Amino acid sequence: MKHYLLASDFDQTLSFNDSGIALSELLGITGFQDKVAGLSRLNLVQQGGELAYLLRHDPEYRRVRRQDLAEVGRRVRLKRNIPLLTRLLEDGIEGHRFDFYVISAAPEEVVRSALQGIVPPDHVIGTRLGYAAESGEIESIVRVAAGYGKVAAIDELRLALSVPSDRVVYVGDGSSDIHVMLEVNHRGGFTIAASEAKYITEIAKRTIISDDALSVLVPILEQIAGWGPERIRALFESHGVLIHQWDKVRTDWLTIGESATAAERTEPLRDEDVPDEERSSEKSPH
Ligand SMILES: [Mg+2]
Repeated sequence: MKHYLLASDFDQTLSFNDSGIALSELLGITGFQDKVAGLSRLNLVQQGGELAYLLRHDPEYRRVRRQDLAEVGRRVRLKRNIPLLTRLLEDGIEGHRFDFYVISAAPEEVVRSALQGIVPPDHVIGTRLGYAAESGEIESIVRVAAGYGKVAAIDELRLALSVPSDRVVYVGDGSSDIHVMLEVNHRGGFTIAASEAKYITEIAKRTIISDDALSVLVPILEQIAGWGPERIRALFESHGVLIHQWDKVRTDWLTIGESATAAERTEPLRDEDVPDEERSSEKSPH
């Protein structure tokens, strides 16, 4: 039995929401995205850690309490079949066992509440906040599981579970997942992008786009368990899940131009070889 660690991001990987947007909507706070963009430009906090920063330092978020975060979690729209995904990872893939953990930059209360009854709370590593005993106000940030914080979380888990680094699988969709994906790849693990965003698909070994969480099993079964498409379809169907459409798009996008050195090496054309229209276009900056 091969033992793996499968760690997944939460916001927009297992859900359709962004926790910060959902919280701001719940509380009627506007301008969340502008604030995040501003923080992002400064590189003051790890990418994905903006909400944690705002919760601690932005006056508008001072009224947020633990129960508000849990309420946001209850409102989160999850992708389909997360319960089935966790069952199959545990004992549904012959010869393989995957410990499933969620590592999220969102506050732990949000993710734990969203995944209540699906993923045990101790399998959720999120951003941890400290609360004032009297007022319930957020008074400290204990840990931010964003950006490089996700690398640290994976390292802790790997050691605790005694999983070698090449048996780590990470799934994510956003800029907060870049560090951890680079690190997992570097150590021989496997990475899956759940978004078409170029900055993440360029890094991940596979990309899978679906509104069904079970889809993440496709690259895992192909790459790690060595299954073919028929066997994968059959497994899904045996659990009542039908793959309607499976488009495999693997395209190399190239834009090719002449390099400066190559241009120098080329014999200059004699004037009479250049047609008039080309000669005039030589002056254009393109
Ligand atoms: Mg995400």
